[in-house]
Amino acid sequence: MEGQIGSLPDGSPWDLAAERRGDRDWIEDQWHSPDSRVVLMYDGQVAVDSDDRPLWMSSGRLPDDVLAWAFLGIDAHGCARFVASAAPATALNVDDWLPLRSLPSELAAELFSAVSLMNWHANHTHCPRCGAATSIHEAGWQRVCPEDNSRHFPRVDPAVIMLIHDGFDRVLLGRHKRWPVGWFSTLAGFVEPGETLADAVVREVAEEVGLQVVETTYLGSQSWPFPNSLMVGFHARAEYAAPQPDGDEIEEAHWLTREELASSSAAGTIKLPPALSISRWLIQQWYGEELPGEWART
Ligand SMILES: [Zn+2]
Repeated sequence: MEGQIGSLPDGSPWDLAAERRGDRDWIEDQWHSPDSRVVLMYDGQVAVDSDDRPLWMSSGRLPDDVLAWAFLGIDAHGCARFVASAAPATALNVDDWLPLRSLPSELAAELFSAVSLMNWHANHTHCPRCGAATSIHEAGWQRVCPEDNSRHFPRVDPAVIMLIHDGFDRVLLGRHKRWPVGWFSTLAGFVEPGETLADAVVREVAEEVGLQVVETTYLGSQSWPFPNSLMVGFHARAEYAAPQPDGDEIEEAHWLTREELASSSAAGTIKLPPALSISRWLIQQWYGEELPGEWART
């Protein structure tokens, strides 16, 4: 959470109550219960109230034309939580939408599974085998084809994210070519078929900055629903050598000593990723305490 270097946001803030998903009558009762709360999403954005906080409403206030929905679990008060995705016509009538990245990190993290599920539903409306329109089952955690009865599950794409260090006093940070000057972060990339996570770390580092990784240490993971990733975080020790950015993804990369990292982030000459991200957590885990300054929301 923000302000801590020792922990990442939990995967879900609620009891998932996964065993209830197949109980259609119970789910139906919860959906119509005045105590249940639904958050509405459209195109990766969240309906918010006048304080820019997610707007949790009763299902009775929802429009009739929701495109997809899912049961998220039971909160600390025993109330069921749902997510629904709005049709474009409805979206036009809601004044206040915010992208997840614009919410305070702890509120955004609460909605990671909701956003990821709605992204999956939006992009998997038809059967990949026969092309028939599929329907929602298991309270939003499956889609089923009415023609061949094939079942389809929410997709998660594993990606590795790694802070490169030299085993002594230096870390390597890179700037993506689409980022403004001064923004720096860890490297990252998707895992390819047949690779282990460690294989992916070694390959991505070699491709993006031309360095040889000799040791990988797993630190933690984070759901990253942009659109459906699981970021698996590592510290990767590499042979110290001049980095060779590929120019394709990484525009520049630099080794920084502990002191250079602290002084340049304090001076604002480099900006680090936001508190929400595992990339900042990986950097601060290596540094040992919080560092100042961040992208975008400063
Ligand atoms: Zn089918």
